[in-house]
Amino acid sequence: MEGAGRSLGARALLSLICAGPMSRAELGRRLGLSAATTTRTVRPLIEASLVEEGPPAQAGGPGRPTRLLAVVPTSATVVGIKLTDDRLYAVLTDALGQVLAGASRPLTVTDPHSVTTLIASVVTRLARRSDRRPDAIGIALGAAVVERRTVVVASFLGWRDVPLADMVGEATSLPCVVANDVRAFAYAESWYGTGHGHDPFALVTFGAGIGCGIAVGGEVVSGARGAAGSVGHLPVAPSGPSCEIGHAGCARALASTAAILRAAAEHLGCEPEELSVERLLSPQLREHPGIDEVLRRAALAAGRVVGSLIAYVDPELVVVSGEGVAVLEAYRETFEEEIAGLRHWTAAPVPVLLRPFEFDEWARGAAALALERWALVAGDR
Ligand SMILES: [Zn+2]
Repeated sequence: MEGAGRSLGARALLSLICAGPMSRAELGRRLGLSAATTTRTVRPLIEASLVEEGPPAQAGGPGRPTRLLAVVPTSATVVGIKLTDDRLYAVLTDALGQVLAGASRPLTVTDPHSVTTLIASVVTRLARRSDRRPDAIGIALGAAVVERRTVVVASFLGWRDVPLADMVGEATSLPCVVANDVRAFAYAESWYGTGHGHDPFALVTFGAGIGCGIAVGGEVVSGARGAAGSVGHLPVAPSGPSCEIGHAGCARALASTAAILRAAAEHLGCEPEELSVERLLSPQLREHPGIDEVLRRAALAAGRVVGSLIAYVDPELVVVSGEGVAVLEAYRETFEEEIAGLRHWTAAPVPVLLRPFEFDEWARGAAALALERWALVAGDR
């Protein structure tokens, strides 16, 4: 996402964080550097205790034993934060993205200043758990974000043009970056998750919103205005119900959590607030033909979104996550048939992985952004 202008040291550090331990020769190959330049690049990183060299190991073939370079896990700690409309989730990770501690707080007031104050207090508490000042903060939320700093629009919080990175940076005196949550999640997944080693890689999420992140060459496409991957309002069934801004049968109107609960509540004659996706998936409620239809329609809509994405991008792997994954698991056949139906007749099927969902994973995505920020500065010293 911040490809231009990285120093060699920063690129080397990032490669080792993203791809794990590797030999000098492998690192040189990845960065397109000669052996001498690789050695010159790595030396200051080792001297600064950011990178360590393992004991000599035989690489399986003939020749000299190689020593693997690895990032020192304790060389950094970062905080990753995910904001939802009613809760804040935070994790503290080490330099390899391993979670050291987590925290979660209700979000009772959502104006930018109150949220900034809450973030600062959670960061302080997490810092105490690790007994050191974090090196950077990453924040992810369901919003369009530009330049990793400014939230352009976050409708679920009622925000417009909020310079969140600067506000949190000032409140904590720590470097802070902000990004769209789905793209941050896609970033973490392509760094050290299921997407690792798959290029291009796409992550699609179904939940309160519907979005996707597309990673190409290890970078997640952000778009000219920070809005790449906003697939929620694509039309999927023109005769379907309308979304909150009046599109008939867009993906959001059929497959977002609120839409599913609203449609189910109409069938059951109750309020959407009394329901949950989990309850709808219980055997008793699924037997209700109206509920079965609502859930099947959501799986079909999700299949159309994923199938279209595959047609546009031809990814090596698609990971689907978010709380809506439970519906797709229950209606997997409908979901997969829809994807298969959209496939070009000469194209090979693309593997689509359903990934169980945890809010911590979102926060971990935000931590990956913070780690990148740290590596860019630390590797440059
Ligand atoms: Zn819509």
